[in-house]
Amino acid sequence: MTLNQYIRDIQDFPKPGILFKDITPLLGNPAAVKECMALLLNNLRDQKIDKVIGAESRGFFFATLLAYELGAGFVPVRKPGKLPYSTFSASYELEYGTDTMEVHTDAIKPGERVVIHDDVLATGGTAKALCQLVEQLGGVIVQCNFLMELSFLNGREKLTPYPVYAPLVY
Ligand code: AMP
Repeated sequence: MTLNQYIRDIQDFPKPGILFKDITPLLGNPAAVKECMALLLNNLRDQKIDKVIGAESRGFFFATLLAYELGAGFVPVRKPGKLPYSTFSASYELEYGTDTMEVHTDAIKPGERVVIHDDVLATGGTAKALCQLVEQLGGVIVQCNFLMELSFLNGREKLTPYPVYAPLVY
């Protein structure tokens, strides 16, 4: 199966000049989701993982599935003001703007082994903010895991020295 056919390109969304990678066709196809999960779990199945942390909002879909498959807990990282308990925050730059992400202060215990997941690795700002939050909580980053990487934006470099894995590369 070619997963690329389930990723829809939307020109100029959410603003002019951005080619948006829409994963809703993939999410709507159970065979594609299954294939995707098999790829995302590469190198992870034989590792001890305590938490999978997903970035709001499109990171939630596969982060939750990955956590379930790995027998790990799921941790949501959300936009400011969305999480009800006390939070730590980290600011970051997007391909289209700047933003802040928050995580609950008790979401990860010191020494826990963590996988970071988001749908798209673009400039790497979002994932770097997640890495900062995980380390602030004392977690150990095992892998930064993405459905796809926009390699021309060099986000991978920003995530050095963490291992980066993305089955689809554009
Ligand atoms: P970045 O922080 O630049 O790596 O951007 C990653 C975040 O922005 C992810 O949460 C993506 O969902 C979203 N994103 C950035 N660029 C795109 C794109 N071209 N298509 C879809 N989502 C994107």
